[in-house]
Amino acid sequence: MNNQLTIAHIFPALLSTYGDAGNVSVLRHRAESRGIRVAIVDVLPGDPVPATADLYVIGGGEDAQEMRATELLREDSGLSMAVHRGAPVLAVCAGMQILGEWFTDGSDSRVIGLGLLDLRTERRSVRAVGDVIADATGVPDLPTLIGFENHRGATSLGSDARPLARVLHGIGNGAAEPVEGALQGSIIGTYLHGPVLALNSGLADHLLAVAVGQLAPMNDMLAEEFRANRFQRARA
Ligand code: GLN
Repeated sequence: MNNQLTIAHIFPALLSTYGDAGNVSVLRHRAESRGIRVAIVDVLPGDPVPATADLYVIGGGEDAQEMRATELLREDSGLSMAVHRGAPVLAVCAGMQILGEWFTDGSDSRVIGLGLLDLRTERRSVRAVGDVIADATGVPDLPTLIGFENHRGATSLGSDARPLARVLHGIGNGAAEPVEGALQGSIIGTYLHGPVLALNSGLADHLLAVAVGQLAPMNDMLAEEFRANRFQRARA
């Protein structure tokens, strides 16, 4: 196990709906609890995206912020260099849409994304809002995922991407198949907020393990209680 971890947090203020920035805090907490030293690089608009970080996190955002982030990232090769080297990336909601081939804006024009995920996002007529429960079919041994979604995207996966999960409750990607999120190489895309890693510690540990190697088990009663409460609420 590598005992040093650098996390690049891409545009923490621009892309941070529903507390998505908390994903970075969860990663830090779970890494530090295993004795890993963590450095966080907040990549601000105008900063180059470092190509050498160990783990990348990009959150969700409103349409205008999503457009701005897309323009900035298209001019920067740091993230794609990291992806081609196999660095793990968590991309939430707008973050996932940006990493795709294209998404449509408010006037139904296509906005070209980074092309790192084989997916395309059109606009749903109705927003998908509410709790999501999904069976994490894409990652071995991951417990059922739970989170909150609020988006207008209908995201279809191409053949190079596979779903993160099968939707049991809620909308998820909202295209033909009842699936949620996307996996391609070392990228994990999801529509889940929560923050998703606070509600799904297993997913946080999966990302950390890809970044630093096998982790010691960790018992976090508070995280488990938080997660159990959310399941109870979603099922009520
Ligand atoms: N603006 C995008 C949409 O509505 C993403 C929303 C989000 O990241 N919460 O689909």
